[in-house]
Amino acid sequence: MTENKTMHKKAKQQNLKRIFTLPLFHGDDLLDSISSFCQKKNIKTGLIMAIGALQKAKIGYYLQKEKKYKQLSINKPVEIISCLGNVSLKNNKPFVHLHVSLADAKGRAFGGHLNKGSLVFASECFVFELKGEKLERKFHPLTGLSLWDFIS
Ligand code: ZN
Repeated sequence: MTENKTMHKKAKQQNLKRIFTLPLFHGDDLLDSISSFCQKKNIKTGLIMAIGALQKAKIGYYLQKEKKYKQLSINKPVEIISCLGNVSLKNNKPFVHLHVSLADAKGRAFGGHLNKGSLVFASECFVFELKGEKLERKFHPLTGLSLWDFIS
């Protein structure tokens, strides 16, 4: 009960401002392209969703005990079943955080934290820009991650 009360007090509120459909091109780096779009448009808070396919992928898995990412390289074409994430502020700049579910030729799914080096084969992507209370990332010692500052 106490936790729920805290959650309700701390929750931030935003409203939808603009929706962009992004032109992602064959060979683009998925994370870099979305990040640079958000920085150029100065999107400080937002939701991102994409589908499509990658020529190859680089994803991360966070080792919770070691507090570091294990990197995985997928050097084959994969489907993007879903790519979901957000934009918030980190060091006062728009910072894009994305996760992907991918599938191989046998329909087997896997995924993780999207890293630079994931090259677009084709993709359809929406960015939902939000306005309202700011979301800012700060280092969170318990997890070793940069989390939204109202999570403690
Ligand atoms: Zn992540």
